[in-house]
Amino acid sequence: MSSKKELLIGAHVSIAGGVHNAFQRALSIGASTFQIFTASSRSWNEKPLSIEECALFDQARKDSGIDVVVSHASYLINIASSVPKIFHPSQKALKDELVRCQQLGIQYLVLHPGAHTGSGVDVGIENVARALDTVLEAVPGKTMIVLESMAGQGTTLGGTFEELKAIRAACTHKKRIGFCLDTCHMYSAGYDIASDGGYEKVVKECDSLIGLEHVKVIHVNDSKTKLASHVDRHEALGKGTIPLAMFDLLVNDRRFNDVPKILETPTDLAMELYAKEIAMLKKMAG
Ligand code: ZN
Ligand code: MN
Ligand code: MN
Repeated sequence: MSSKKELLIGAHVSIAGGVHNAFQRALSIGASTFQIFTASSRSWNEKPLSIEECALFDQARKDSGIDVVVSHASYLINIASSVPKIFHPSQKALKDELVRCQQLGIQYLVLHPGAHTGSGVDVGIENVARALDTVLEAVPGKTMIVLESMAGQGTTLGGTFEELKAIRAACTHKKRIGFCLDTCHMYSAGYDIASDGGYEKVVKECDSLIGLEHVKVIHVNDSKTKLASHVDRHEALGKGTIPLAMFDLLVNDRRFNDVPKILETPTDLAMELYAKEIAMLKKMAG
């Protein structure tokens, strides 16, 4: 038996005071990876990072021993839209996100596929694929864009493995496109990971449709809402509708050994909560 690797676990942390500060915050909660916004999540930001900011980030990375870093794209981006006034600034903002990730050597940029807002799933998927190819073409490098599984609210794309698969299939630059599974979103979308045997069934389905090798990030969140609610409300682990036993299965699942697992339950006490949750998950993983 080969010995098990250390759990690659972290949380979404703040970049207040500069992007490099994220490393200290991650270490303070016992994390071995983390997720950040490289700019404000709720504004359009076109600014690349300065040489000084990048240098500080590189140094902090070396000092911390943390290698795998994930970024989450702005919530405003909607590349599924057919409305030029929305699509074009979204594509531009995504390009800027990718530039900043490249500057920082961030491996994965998590993106919500977007909402078609009435133009239909097929058109929405075409829009997403067109924008992804444009952006990946314009910004060469190693950062992968990972499409997040969504709760399936309204006209949001990515609530099913079929839709995620179809988006990647429609792209030319497939090598730089992966997926992010969010346990809260999957459960809300109707994937019953909480039932007896349900976790394994869903992972098998995920494998057969999108391929587990393309799952690059996992968001580890409990849900405030019921199975198939199609509502996206994160909850602290053990406080929601997904039993802790599911998280035990997840952190002990060797198929996801190398996949960074990120906690995303923003509360006033986020850092204290994350530290507790990380300690609990590490204990579960033995
Ligand atoms: Zn997200
Ligand atoms: Mn998420
Ligand atoms: Mn969410």
